[in-house]
Amino acid sequence: MTTRYAHILKPLHLGYTTIKNRVVMGSMHTGLEDRFYNYPKLAAYFEERAKGGVGLIITGGISPNRQGWLLPAGGTMNTLGDVVPHRLVTHAVHKHGAKILMQILHAGRYGYQPFVVSSSPIKSPISPFKPRQLSEKQILQTIDDYARTANLAKNAGYDGVEVMGSEGYLINQFLSRHVNQRQDRWGGDIQNRMRFAVEIVKAIRAKVGEKFIISFRLSFLDLVHDGNTMDEVIVVAQALEKVGVTLLNTGIGWHEARIPTIVTSVPRAAFVDYTAEVKKHVKLPVIASNRINMPDTAEEILASGQADMVQMARPLLADPYWVSKTATNRVDEINTCIACNQACLDHTFKNQRATCLVNPRAAYETELVYIKTKRPKRIAVVGAGVAGMSAATVAAERGHKVTLFEANNEVGGQFNLAKVVPGKEEFHETIRYFKKQIQQTAVDLRLNTKVNREQLEREGFDEVIVATGVIPRALKIEGSQAPQVLSYAEVLRGAPVGLRVAVIGAGGIGFDVSEYLLKPEHQPQPQSIVDWKREWGVDQNANYVSEGGMQPAEVETPIREIYLMQRKTTPLGAGLGKTSGWVHRAQLKKHAVKMLRGVQYKAVTDEGIWINMNGQDQLLRVDTIVVCAGQESVVEIMPKQDEKTLAKYHIIGGAKLAAELDAKRAIRDGAELAAKL
Ligand code: NAP
Ligand code: SF4
Repeated sequence: MTTRYAHILKPLHLGYTTIKNRVVMGSMHTGLEDRFYNYPKLAAYFEERAKGGVGLIITGGISPNRQGWLLPAGGTMNTLGDVVPHRLVTHAVHKHGAKILMQILHAGRYGYQPFVVSSSPIKSPISPFKPRQLSEKQILQTIDDYARTANLAKNAGYDGVEVMGSEGYLINQFLSRHVNQRQDRWGGDIQNRMRFAVEIVKAIRAKVGEKFIISFRLSFLDLVHDGNTMDEVIVVAQALEKVGVTLLNTGIGWHEARIPTIVTSVPRAAFVDYTAEVKKHVKLPVIASNRINMPDTAEEILASGQADMVQMARPLLADPYWVSKTATNRVDEINTCIACNQACLDHTFKNQRATCLVNPRAAYETELVYIKTKRPKRIAVVGAGVAGMSAATVAAERGHKVTLFEANNEVGGQFNLAKVVPGKEEFHETIRYFKKQIQQTAVDLRLNTKVNREQLEREGFDEVIVATGVIPRALKIEGSQAPQVLSYAEVLRGAPVGLRVAVIGAGGIGFDVSEYLLKPEHQPQPQSIVDWKREWGVDQNANYVSEGGMQPAEVETPIREIYLMQRKTTPLGAGLGKTSGWVHRAQLKKHAVKMLRGVQYKAVTDEGIWINMNGQDQLLRVDTIVVCAGQESVVEIMPKQDEKTLAKYHIIGGAKLAAELDAKRAIRDGAELAAKL
């Protein structure tokens, strides 16, 4: 078969071994790594990706010792006993011809536990624990620990290790002045600061021999004050090459950086220039990373010679078969990672198992299983939002005969609103994916059909899944029927909005709508990389001389004056995702959105809206009031409890529970129910 993706599919020969294509599944901590009894699940998770055709897999981070734990009792490899469960993983992956590296990650001062250590005793802003400074003896011991761990990984059947030297973890804490303020041979100029990294690689190479892959993830762009310059990055890259690193992987931004690096509003392939710059100065294969999620982007990076491999972690959670679909020209079947972080990184940071919003089977491969049914049923699904589409396509895939009713002229429900929010363009992809699934699983889709119970009963369905979703909650105060009061749905569908706006409700949607209103009109295209870097203060020059690659941000004057309000007295946006909420808060702050809390809404008049704050009534002079006050379930089709029906009724998604409605629960609800029918 001819393919448009020849560069992605080209093998990479390393002399003693060959990686079958250029796709690397990057390291992603799932939480399964930390307990030996979860390794059968971890093996199934990786096996699915290996089966899906990925060339190289890198595991979640495993610590070389107790001081290096990211979380208390995190995954560690420092005894022979630790090796045993890992053999399940390496065996499962090798069965399908993929290679696998174990990532060795010492968290340093990012550890969320009391034993933390670092190059200097400086607390990080993202952990409450102040690190102890490593002594010379402890540094040498840590280097030994890395080498022993790498050797144990070899014993466990791994094809190599990846040394995590970026994202602000321990090695990065030595490499950059941001943390390293030592005066001894491990601190000072770059030759000294990189000694720790170089000695680790030397020690590993000496222990494991030549025929074992060592990937090094190096920070190509620190995005923190006192971070390295590109010249310094290149010096380190060349030194690492010299001591035996096999692959050089791109790291972008420390976890504490206040510039986003992976969320959905970061343009695709935004950082590939820095990878290309490093690649010019080394001979070893270089891996590009961050916000690469679809084959066209990956192919362009490889074809233009900017990198030798492309790394994707989240996109392979979203679709384990990304590579095989690419190889067989079935790109429109890819379940695209929308970079929301809601079910992967946000879970990791809450110490929950990582999974994926668009693929609830990720890391649940042995628990959420879609078995072909022996007794096909006639199933009606009412509502083609993401909950309904998920239920319909899983049920149909299992062999049921499914009819999907949708009152509107398109599928997608709330995702049709989300996709017009600037920076959320990726949400288009989920709708495209489900449309294709509907077609492929032969779901009978009936658009523009507001079905009622009589019709459902008449058609003789065995089961009815009610996925009728939500409607926006209305504001019920004096004057709230006035035409200048709009729901968020009306605004996101294009209703005209004045230049002074009050947004009522500061949940995810209040933030989204405020961002949407900052710009003059809806921009159908994602922001360009140049504009995005300018807005966030990232150096446009790949050979940057600024500290950590940062420049002063240039913020465009917003066209509207916006008040974002809530009744609670807690900070606005406190309930947003851990890894993305700060980006939304920063974005609104930069654009001078006024955030008011502890607000009581009194009345809407021709002049604006009367509110009460701190016991004082005041008038906000605004032209438009946008209500983002949550939602109410639409359940009219659901039978009452004692009502007799021919079909069995089930309710899922927002129709079941409007409060805390979210796409993650909606898609999972649909899939879990359909897996059982
Ligand atoms: P939400 O998060 O529940 O927020 C609703 C907001 O309305 C709150 O600020 C609430 O604050 C206020 N409110 C509730 N009842 C009200 C009433 N009767 N009158 C006035 N204000 C009222 O809901 P959402 O913003 O609609 O988002 C829905 C879901 O979509 C979220 O749970 C989230 O999962 C998802 N989502 C997430 C994101 C994201 O993370 N970036 C973006 C979009 C959507 P007070 O009660 O304090 O006034
Ligand atoms: Fe991507 Fe969101 Fe899934 Fe994470 S949860 S893998 S960011 S789609």
